[in-house]
Amino acid sequence: MNYISTRTVDGEKRSAAYVIKKGLAEDGGLYIPENIPTLDEVTVTALCGMSYTERAAYILSLFLTDYSEAELKDAAEQAYSAEKFGGPAAPIARVGDSYFLELWHGPTSAFKDMALQIMPRLLSLSLGKTNETKDAFILVATSGDTGKAALEGYCDIDRVGIQVFYPVNGVSNIQKKQMASQKGKNVKVVAINGNFDDAQSGVKAIFANEEAKKMLESRGKFFSSANSINWGRLAPQIVYYISAYCDLVKEGEIKYGDLLDVTVPTGNFGNILAAYIAKKMGLPLGKLVCASNKNDILADFINTGVYDKRREFFTTVSPSMDILISSNLERLLWFVLGAEKTRDCMEKLNRDGIYKLDDEAMEIIRKDFAGISCSEEETKETIKSVFAEFGYLCDTHTAVAANAAKKYDGKNKMLVVSTASPYKFAPAVLSALGEEVPADDFDALDKLFAVTKCAIPKNLANLRDAEVRFTETVDPCQMLETI
Ligand SMILES: *Cc1c(COP(=O)(O)O)cnc(C)c1O
Repeated sequence: MNYISTRTVDGEKRSAAYVIKKGLAEDGGLYIPENIPTLDEVTVTALCGMSYTERAAYILSLFLTDYSEAELKDAAEQAYSAEKFGGPAAPIARVGDSYFLELWHGPTSAFKDMALQIMPRLLSLSLGKTNETKDAFILVATSGDTGKAALEGYCDIDRVGIQVFYPVNGVSNIQKKQMASQKGKNVKVVAINGNFDDAQSGVKAIFANEEAKKMLESRGKFFSSANSINWGRLAPQIVYYISAYCDLVKEGEIKYGDLLDVTVPTGNFGNILAAYIAKKMGLPLGKLVCASNKNDILADFINTGVYDKRREFFTTVSPSMDILISSNLERLLWFVLGAEKTRDCMEKLNRDGIYKLDDEAMEIIRKDFAGISCSEEETKETIKSVFAEFGYLCDTHTAVAANAAKKYDGKNKMLVVSTASPYKFAPAVLSALGEEVPADDFDALDKLFAVTKCAIPKNLANLRDAEVRFTETVDPCQMLETI
């Protein structure tokens, strides 16, 4: 299986290992598989009899053909072990007539773990496969969740080191403690006096700094990023849609061939794009509902055909969806428009902040996708009503999807993708339930448990007493020095 860029017609073809090592294509585009492998009834039926780990190894083997069966099996076993996930990696909860696919049982209690637990292992293997003599050194600027998920994923991975920068006053106390207590011999965490933009600009400046590159090279390393546009992060996300379909067939909730609609709380468009690829493979999925929060640029795009980032940015209770440029949408454009027009759109977005698709293209997109947005009030109201009605506690991101799924109201069964543990956003969830919110985040965790009696994930329950390893705070101009 070869990979090509979304921006060049008849461009270079690359192996999976190459694109996982590189991330972005040379022309600035994203890598996409040259053709999509197919899944038929016989295969899905066989997958029904397998564990999540076995399903992951099989599905990844269709895309990562330069990795051996044993390598993928090993990587999947280490990434999705019951020890790490406290049971099955992606269980389904029944909530009323819908199914909630819980993708937050991993070590950081958010769905980024599903990709970031396995991607670092794929990167590590890619170094050998591409005859790379240098080791990878990952730099991350984070506003919270991605930093911790990346640290957990890359921790103690062979031939990879990771350093994370976070804004000292831009993350919650829980997020700070999660990162500062990270274990592992190849990790480092540094706080920045500044905001997220300062951290992000600092990292970008280091990536572009030739001196820094040479310094690193002289020590046998090269800079790399844990970016969500890397194919190595996308491929593992295809697995849980197929796995969820298998689980529902196995449990007799649907028959093979029944269409299953999916609602995904969407930010960078990675998660929902994985559902689209699963559907393209032949998995019987119906509508893919793209749920947006108050930053409703994607829902708008699907409904109007206009992608316009020249709009106000809102900080919401679902921060991981607060985004105005959804990078992975470029991959959908490629499927619908081809490389030439995709490059056009991306140039327009860069230059004018806006592009528009014609009716023909939008008709194709709307066959698969619906776009529905959810206000802040509706998000909070959904947390409250779902808990009151079904005793099921959603986090603020999942609530956006639950609200959109309800508004969509189609005739197929609905799979709502649940992307974070409610405890990860305990203060906002408490507030939505109408409770007073304690000033201390850890007190908020305890109170959310006292009020709901829903289990606290082990990694968050143990956090208050975790040993702090990293206490360094520097000015943005000192970031390079710390490396
Ligand atoms: C990252 C994230 C999302 C958005 O996922 P995309 O793949 O960026 O669309 C939704 N919910 C949570 C909790 C997240 O961390």
